[in-house]
Amino acid sequence: MNLAVWVERAGAAYSDAPALGWGSRVHRTYAEMADRAARLAGGLKDLGLAPGARIALFAKNHPAYVEAMVAIWRAGMAAVPINNKLHRDEVAYILEASSAALVFTTPDLAETAGAAAASGVHLIDLEGEGYEALIADAAPARLAETGPDELAWLFFTSGTTGRPKGAMLSHRNLMAMTTAYLADVAPVAPGDACLHAAPMSHGSGLYILPHLAHAGVNVTPESGGFSPSEIVDLLKAWPGAAMFAAPTMVNRLVRWEGEIPQSALENLKAIIYGGAPMYVEDAQAALARLGPRLVQIYGQGESPMTITCLSRAEIADRAHPRAAQRLGSAGRPYVNVEVRVVDRDDRPVGVGESGEIVCRGDSVMLGYLDNPEATAETLRGGWLHTGDVGAFDADGYLTLMDRSKDLIISGGTNIYPREVEEVLLTHTGVEECSVIGRRDPDWGEIVVAYIVGAVDQGALDAHCLEHMARFKRPKVYVFVDDLPKSNYGKILKTELRKLDEGRSA
Ligand code: AMP
Repeated sequence: MNLAVWVERAGAAYSDAPALGWGSRVHRTYAEMADRAARLAGGLKDLGLAPGARIALFAKNHPAYVEAMVAIWRAGMAAVPINNKLHRDEVAYILEASSAALVFTTPDLAETAGAAAASGVHLIDLEGEGYEALIADAAPARLAETGPDELAWLFFTSGTTGRPKGAMLSHRNLMAMTTAYLADVAPVAPGDACLHAAPMSHGSGLYILPHLAHAGVNVTPESGGFSPSEIVDLLKAWPGAAMFAAPTMVNRLVRWEGEIPQSALENLKAIIYGGAPMYVEDAQAALARLGPRLVQIYGQGESPMTITCLSRAEIADRAHPRAAQRLGSAGRPYVNVEVRVVDRDDRPVGVGESGEIVCRGDSVMLGYLDNPEATAETLRGGWLHTGDVGAFDADGYLTLMDRSKDLIISGGTNIYPREVEEVLLTHTGVEECSVIGRRDPDWGEIVVAYIVGAVDQGALDAHCLEHMARFKRPKVYVFVDDLPKSNYGKILKTELRKLDEGRSA
């Protein structure tokens, strides 16, 4: 089965229903999108590209991003969405590694795309005449006969160290992700919106799929990105809305000083957060402002968006005796994924014990592109080794610990940054924080807290003394205007450690 079948079906059954939204307007109906995607698939073939070709998307969020992705699948080709904040050399690396034959881009990125692409690679501006001509001049292509294990999406991992690796996601993998979303995250009815304020090259783009499967509307904000006021305007216009947001985006919306009218909240079905830890304090504040509309997901490119999920009902159940503990967890395994925590020898550990999180199921990638060693290591024994450390509690909820490289060892004792961060954030003056270790001749490492907010060191120290063991509290506080973050809104601890090295030297 080919993912693009959903658009063909919706084009027939829901021909007049909106398929693509741009700002508050309907941009294309399902009949229009089905027709355009079929023609664009024909246009790709007319360029001499064959099934199996890899087509890159290096573009800002755009309604045509969705259309192009559907056309790529319809033609039996594979999409290579690229983080649009990458440097030209990084883009060049991905284009070469994936053997991309064509790059869809937008005017803002055309120059970088042009510089990154080797000669002979087609460059097509999603807003340009060439794109429209490709659609207008081609005959519609039939839906390609695509096997379930054929490549659909080459997902390049963020790769904070070394070259990014291309996780190969098949049609089956993305179908499993879609089914898991519809079962455990949020149902979608025709006309329900997905607001793409986070990059389409990553989590938000993956959530295009459940919305195609059930004839929802994929809506691109006019800015192509995230701003609280724009989101509120979109919510006024689009009912049944779901939105994927990094925790930092949720926090910005929650702390935004403007008004979120009840009518907008009523249109908001789910804010799905994940990709990085959400602190309990922040989740509680989000619940208070947005109501019972939050869902948490834990996944990674290698099992896209699909390992565990903390449902809307579980997050909203504040009366539960273990509500705070649950809010601090990443939920329970999705309906179609097996999840275990294992020791160094891949043996499952007991309840409450921590180890590496592994999972298996149809959402798990085929492997890494052209990297059999990394594939064998990561998928050994038939389980995806996530590299994340976690522990299950007796109720089956999985809590993620800090990655081992983030763990601070001070005076021989392990200190988990997240624990310190959770406490710091309960101080009302702290907006954001990140805790790292700094090398120290006496202690091995000391705890350093980077703080964004209006608060002084004395107050924070007193707050920490009241709420945590003395040895865990930061020895150094650094007050900053902002923290280094990725395009996907994750705080970059590796970056922060580098900055800190410079500062302490
Ligand atoms: P990526 O492959 O770029 O999506 O990054 C995936 C990584 O983000 C995971 O391996 C985790 O380390 C982290 N991550 C994803 N979801 C969560 C979550 N809900 N809570 C904490 N960390 C998360």
